[in-house]
Order: sequence, then structure tokens, then C-alpha cells
Amino acid sequence: MTTNVASVLDQALGLAGTNAPAPKPVYVGSDARKITRRGILWLGQTCNLRCQFCYFLDRIEDETHPEHHFMGLEKAKEICRSLVEYYGNNSIDIQGGEPTLWPSIYHLVTYCAEIGLSPTLITNAQALANREVVSRYKRAGLRDFLVSVQGLGEVYDRLVGREGAHVRQMKGLRNLQEEGIPFRFNTVLSKPALPQLLDIARLAVRTGAEVVNFLGFNPFNDQATGKRSAVNVPRYGEVAEPLDEALDLLAASGVEANVRYLPFCVVAERHRGSVYDFQQIPYDLHENDFASWSWTDLPAQRTRDAALTPPFGLGPRLRLGPLRVPLRRLAARLPQVAAGLHSVKQRLERAWAARETSASREARYREEARMRSQEYTGYRHVSACSSCDLKSVCDGFYGDYVELFGSEAARPISLGGPVDDPQHFSRRQRKRIHPQDLRWLEP
Ligand code: SF4
Repeated sequence: MTTNVASVLDQALGLAGTNAPAPKPVYVGSDARKITRRGILWLGQTCNLRCQFCYFLDRIEDETHPEHHFMGLEKAKEICRSLVEYYGNNSIDIQGGEPTLWPSIYHLVTYCAEIGLSPTLITNAQALANREVVSRYKRAGLRDFLVSVQGLGEVYDRLVGREGAHVRQMKGLRNLQEEGIPFRFNTVLSKPALPQLLDIARLAVRTGAEVVNFLGFNPFNDQATGKRSAVNVPRYGEVAEPLDEALDLLAASGVEANVRYLPFCVVAERHRGSVYDFQQIPYDLHENDFASWSWTDLPAQRTRDAALTPPFGLGPRLRLGPLRVPLRRLAARLPQVAAGLHSVKQRLERAWAARETSASREARYREEARMRSQEYTGYRHVSACSSCDLKSVCDGFYGDYVELFGSEAARPISLGGPVDDPQHFSRRQRKRIHPQDLRWLEP
């Protein structure tokens, strides 16, 4: 760890001159795999930071955007009820923007816990620098926090656009440790963060983070509009070494690590079990259920003023082809069009569900994964992928990568034959899960 970062951490954590041990982990190890039952909710795109790689940066800046303002408590509760009653979800990621700014957040946390939807907040942890705030979340029934640790020290402050933000985040982590609330890390693999990945892994071990997720800097949502460049997006070749080092440290320390949305060939062979592309995501309990995610991701469920549309699942997909994007736009503006489309999907899905087996369910999630990877987010295989044995389970390169850097980073993998099992590697990863999840995961 560099001297600067070390002193900032020590100062913020109040650990200088001590050997304070990391708290005892709450999560337990498990090799069981089932399709995740974690829902997701966006309360509104209002935030106190401006992370350069935020998927919703434009909506956060633009106060006139329909998704900018926080929704009311009753709408949020209604969405959560549907997650339980329609989708069978049993946990939830609550996002804002920044959910700790939402006035009704404690009420919603308690409500979710009461209806069987164990709540996680995805947060920048700025508000958690206040110990009383953390204590109140504990009393409200929060399961854990997923803290966005995007860098350390001045690098973090620059990436999120706010001086002093790193120190506040470290104070927040310290408060979580002292209150005994579990937490996990999310770290976006932006170019400025790469030299700090090992330090972030050390921070995770030292503070007792249960899980660390490294996420590709993706061209999703508002990041698809020209903000990404060779200045802020790293080449895959630049990511490989610091990422492997961080993964080695986490593995040696028993901290679960996941790498999301990167090609398998970027990480060393020993870390392939940590790679979660779209086809692996349904088997990670820390990730979101594609079925309910498809519904809560729609503008009607993400805006303050629109009426909710009927929930639907992953039944036979309406093959809209080139009509998909204009129809989504139209549905965003005309709630009655959205409601009509979703009623059709709901009816199709009910008919389908009557014939469902567990194998066909997994096949539906796999089809959805491929669709998300290719149609929604523009991942592409490059020419070298045609000789790779992982082609059918790997997303390939994200949409604009080849335009930025070309395709030389592809390293086709030879395993003696094509792999068609999405969990070929991830099955051997030991997950860390909340003890409550043992009840349904390992009955
Ligand atoms: S399919 Fe392509 S991107 Fe994926 S691991 Fe193989 S060579 Fe790399």
C-alpha cells in the first residue's frame, strides 16, 4: 500500500498505531447453486456524488428527467409487494441514485424485512459517516450494505467529484464494523482505479468485507452516449495483472470475489470461477433475478409520477426485432401502451409457466442472458472468439471496445472441446452467503 493511501486510511479509520482485527464474518460458505431470488428497485436518480462511470449520470444531472426525482413510499412498497407475491423474490437491492438520501428509507427497509424481502442498500456510504444513521439502519432491519468503493484517497474523490468523499466513506465502513452490519464492495474497473485494486482488496480484508465485486466499466444506459474514451476506460490487457493480484489476495484471505462483465480470457486461469458474465449471473445470489429485474427496469417502475405496469416474467419473449427500441421509447412516454404490452406478456407467461420444468426455467434464464448481452448491451464476439472453447458461455467484448482499442486483446481458450455449461467454472467457486439464504438454498 502506498504511504499516502495508508495514512489516509489510518486517519479515517482511527487505526493508526493499532492492530484492530477485522470483525468476524457474518456470511457462511456454500457450494449450492440455485437461480437468484434477489429483486432490484430504483427509487429515483438523485445523488450526492457524480461518479464518472455512473450508468445514470445524465438523469442525475438533469432535474427535468422523469427518473430524476425520488418516488413516494407507497409506490416503492407496491413494487416490493409484487417482487414477493408475483416473482417470489426474497431479497432486494435498493438503489437510488443514492438511497440513503431518500426521506422514507428507514420505513421501506422495515417494510421489506417484514414482508420477507431481506434488504440491501447499494450506497456510496457518505451518509454512513454518521454513526447514528448506521445504528438506525440496524434497528430498521437492514441485512447488509453494498458499498461502492471506486478508488482510494484523492483518486476516489476525483472519480466521484467530491473532495473529502473518501474519508467519509472510510468513516462509514468503520461505523458498519462497529455496529456489526455486514457489507460488501463494488468496484468499477476504471482506468484510474487500476493501480489501487490491490489496496482495495487489502481494505476489504482489513475491514471485514464479505464479498468484493469488480465490475467492467460498461457502456450501459447514460454511459452509451460518448463519455467513454481511451482516457477513462482501460484496455483489457491493462486490467489483467492488477486484477489477478487483487483476486489472489482475496482468495488467500477467504473473501469471495466476483468479476462482472469481462471476457474470461482477461483473468488468469485460476480465477475463471470468479467471472460472471450474463449467463453466469442468475446463479449468483448477490445478483438480480432477470424476471423481476425486467419489470422494475421499465420507466413506469422507475419514475415518480407514472402508474405501475402489470408485472410479467420471462415467458416466451416477444420477438420485436428492430421494433424493440422505438416501442420501449413509446411505452416510456405513453403508459397505456406500456400497460397493453405488459398485459400481453403477462398472459403469455402464465400460459408458459403451466408447462415449466426446472430445466426449461434455466433455459429461459439463459436465453434472457444472451438477449441482454447482445441486444441490450451490445456485447460482441470478435473474430478470434470463433476458435475459443468458451464462446457459447462468454459475452465477448463490450460494444464499443473494438472501436476504442481493436480486438487484439482476445486470447482464445482451448479446453479440448467447446464448453456449453454456463457454470463450468463458477460451479467450483465457493460462495459466501447470508445464513438466512441457507434455508432455501440448502434445504
Ligand atoms: S469467447 Fe472471446 S472474449 Fe470470451 S474468452 Fe474466448 S476469446 Fe476471450
